[in-house]
Amino acid sequence: MQDWQTAQRYLAFSPHPDDAELGCGGTLWRLAEGGAEVHLTVVTDGRLGTRDRSTSPEEVAHLRSGEAQAATDVLGARLHLLGLPDGGPHEPYDLRDQAVQEIRRCRPDFVLVCDPWLRYEAHSDHRAVGLAVAEAALLSGLVHYAPGTFAPWTVQGVLFYFPDRADVLSPLEPAAHAARSRAIACHRSQFGPEDPYLARLEEQLRAQGAKAGATWAEALHLRTRTDLHIPGPRS
Ligand SMILES: [Zn+2]
Repeated sequence: MQDWQTAQRYLAFSPHPDDAELGCGGTLWRLAEGGAEVHLTVVTDGRLGTRDRSTSPEEVAHLRSGEAQAATDVLGARLHLLGLPDGGPHEPYDLRDQAVQEIRRCRPDFVLVCDPWLRYEAHSDHRAVGLAVAEAALLSGLVHYAPGTFAPWTVQGVLFYFPDRADVLSPLEPAAHAARSRAIACHRSQFGPEDPYLARLEEQLRAQGAKAGATWAEALHLRTRTDLHIPGPRS
């Protein structure tokens, strides 16, 4: 199987405009910096991400799409916005088929998405998008599944960020950690300077880094083509 770290193209799915940066931003930057083509597809428009009643959902969504573009530029990735409603409802088969079309359009070797099997994950967007993308990775290479604009495409594997069980620690050099922080800082509407959630993530990055022999590391769970029952190109 192809090494996930030396592939040519990656596609990260983010339920909301900031999740991929939080879960695997340093890794995405490192891959792009190394010459890989990195795509970032944000599934929902993030319109619920405010506590300010004076800002309309449409204004929040517009603001957040700009923040997503700025963050994606920092990571050296290409942004795609699906614009589905934040918080749902999501029709599971429709979500899966949209993920299949994204995979066929971007033709990634590896897909990244949040782990839908993370214990106590209360956000339905995270569970729905993670599961839809995992299923889409299995189906996108099948010629008779949802034929459409783009040709079938077989991925090599899926990397889950915010994993229930990490089996890959992706070490971050200082430059990658700094780029991750800059990308997250682009989401000004979501995080203040002393955000406790970001502080907790920083603690986790350091704890994972200690295990990986680095200052920081992002935790991932890799499911290979075999793990996911993804048929080979000729089958
Ligand atoms: Zn989210």
